Amino acid sequence: EGVLYVVATPIGNLDDLSPRAARVLGEVDLIAAEDTRHSARLLRHLGLEVPMMSLHDHNERGRVDQLCQALEAGRRVALVSDAGTPLISDPGFIVVRALRERGFKVVPLPGPCALITALSAAGLPTDRFTFEGFLAHKGGPRQARLAALRDDSATHVLYESPHRIQALLGDIREVLGERRVVLARELTKTFETFLDGTAAELLAQMDADSDQTRGEFVVMIEGAPARDGDEAACVEGDALLQVLFEE
Ligand code: SAM
Repeated sequence: EGVLYVVATPIGNLDDLSPRAARVLGEVDLIAAEDTRHSARLLRHLGLEVPMMSLHDHNERGRVDQLCQALEAGRRVALVSDAGTPLISDPGFIVVRALRERGFKVVPLPGPCALITALSAAGLPTDRFTFEGFLAHKGGPRQARLAALRDDSATHVLYESPHRIQALLGDIREVLGERRVVLARELTKTFETFLDGTAAELLAQMDADSDQTRGEFVVMIEGAPARDGDEAACVEGDALLQVLFEE
């Protein structure tokens, strides 16, 4: 029976590849990779030689039929992205949805994911969080999105590239002011760093040390302070309704 395995791969440290992921990558007939040259390095590291096809934002739609045929013929296929968990700010959604709609088996292999890795060590509340992925490149829409998050008490998690990290922090300073921000940089790599402060403080640190602007970033923003009594009021309201129903 054909299967699509959705395989998480390391976000920096190759030792983070799970033994199960390594085994499955060795057993499949085909690997659909965001960038075949990039994933070839991982396969070399594992001592594996497996046929690959590219699957990225620009060809994903066109790959659906091909992958359906492969699974129909009983092939096992692994989907990987350059780093971390496929579909999380990475290609794969169109293929996974199409294969599921057609009744094929899709099996996730859990593993590294930058947002979860960052949240697990940031010291910000994790009971509720929103993942915003990459915000718009343009300042206007980016600020509008930040403004829409202003009253939400959940922790907000964003991805950003080194080219725009300072612009993003500038917008956070402008729109969200004194909020606490935690910046997780180069997770699982040699220069892994967590910076913690207001957006203004983080920008000052980057100005003082340009190394802090290099690499990959997860940006976490503390949620709005929960308004006193909000939750209690909800619980009380529910209890009251219950009593009224019973009456
Ligand atoms: N699929 C990936 C995942 O599971 O996290 C995310 C892919 S997305 C194209 C790449 C972004 O993820 C980077 O711009 C950065 O925001 C974040 N990221 C990936 N690896 C990271 C790392 N080692 N340290 C910090 N952020 C990372």
